[in-house]
Amino acid sequence: MSRHDIVIVGGGAAGLATAASILKRKKTLDVVVVDPATKHYYQPGWTLVGGGVFKAPQTERQMGDLIPRGATWKKASVASFQPDQNTVSLDNGEELSYETLVVAPGLKLNWAGIDGLEETLGKNGVTSNYRYDLAPYTWELVQSMKKGRALFTQPPMPIKCAGAPQKAMYLSCDAWLRRGVLKNMEVEFHNAGGVLFGVETYVPALMEYVNKYGIDLCFFDNLVKVDGDRKVATFARTKDDQTDMIEREFDMMHVCPPQTAPDFIASSPLANEAGWVDVDQHTLTHNKYDNVFGLGDGASTPNAKTAAAARKQAPIAAVNILQHMAGKAPRAMYDGYGSCPLTVERGKIVLAEFGYGGALLPSFPSWVLDGTKPTSSAWFLKETMLPPIYWKGMLKGKEWMVKPSLLKQSA
Ligand code: FAD
Repeated sequence: MSRHDIVIVGGGAAGLATAASILKRKKTLDVVVVDPATKHYYQPGWTLVGGGVFKAPQTERQMGDLIPRGATWKKASVASFQPDQNTVSLDNGEELSYETLVVAPGLKLNWAGIDGLEETLGKNGVTSNYRYDLAPYTWELVQSMKKGRALFTQPPMPIKCAGAPQKAMYLSCDAWLRRGVLKNMEVEFHNAGGVLFGVETYVPALMEYVNKYGIDLCFFDNLVKVDGDRKVATFARTKDDQTDMIEREFDMMHVCPPQTAPDFIASSPLANEAGWVDVDQHTLTHNKYDNVFGLGDGASTPNAKTAAAARKQAPIAAVNILQHMAGKAPRAMYDGYGSCPLTVERGKIVLAEFGYGGALLPSFPSWVLDGTKPTSSAWFLKETMLPPIYWKGMLKGKEWMVKPSLLKQSA
């Protein structure tokens, strides 16, 4: 068994940013990042791949090139946790022991949760921006369509980037409008939830686009089955405590899959009842094991599951981890910040930024960038600024605009 100061589970947005933020503060620590993936993806870019703005390879890097200097990469999957012994077991039979554990495994896209979906993904007009290999197919379909019915689906919450299903829809409609074919299209948004977006402030701006594009909003519609050959989708429609099965034929369908905690987390002693890593929503410390921290999409914190949230959380986790290792109380608190750049048309974005309880947390004063309105400056931020902020800032421990403010040190 090898012994380490810090073991980080997951080398995604949250795991790598945390490793970088820890090592920036204390270079001498022995930090291991455990992740089986050879590739790391900038998933926020997939919306722009599906919208024909980015090429898929722009969103992909080799994991080995991103592991922060001073950290070691263990290319394996974590299979189970023994928090009482301070050990994790890997799928290759190895065990690692730690002083502090960081759990950042992302979430599970449950494609199999929809009957018939996996068999037809990538063909028969069925696509999803939620997968690297499928996002280009979204743009292919959008370009080839001249008329017909396009369905866009959204499963029950929580999902990562809750705006992504409708971002795909708006960019598709915009492309059809520009080509003069939108008038021949029937566009439907089937949402398992009952609102267009969870924070009301942004809804009026989004509704303007729903009306402009002539989108039919179908709330409380949960996709349960896809027959790819017949091009028919089945939705469970719940109204007044009654659920009916509705069939809709389609020419194109963009699916956002249902999402859950990863199985190896849900079945572990670290999980809460819903399966997520059970942490305090402010300190990111585990509610039972004080040498365990959790952040990113896999954590129980009730924020919008976004890379923007992970960017804010990582330095906070780093501060509180080092505090804990020094035998001191947490000094950094997470306010629930997350961000969702809603691509309402090519060149314009409604930039939703909010924290716990839907509190608005804009990064800029409204005279610079008003997030409640569609702006080209927010598009510039998303297309031009955010990718380098991710690759060169967040993953390297440069905490641009997310440096945590620290509570006074208790004696
Ligand atoms: P991930 O980045 O998914 O990383 C999880 C890592 O854990 C992976 O590398 C995985 O291999 C590893 N792992 C899994 N199981 C194990 C195991 N057993 N052992 C070890 N390692 C394991 N966010 C935004 O901020 N803005 C956006 O505009 C935006 N748009 C999005 C659009 C789409 C289509 C999608 C799919 C996502 C979008 N997001 C957006 C969300 C954002 O990408 C995620 O919130 C972010 O990547 C979460 O980081 P994470 O580290 O928690 O998970």
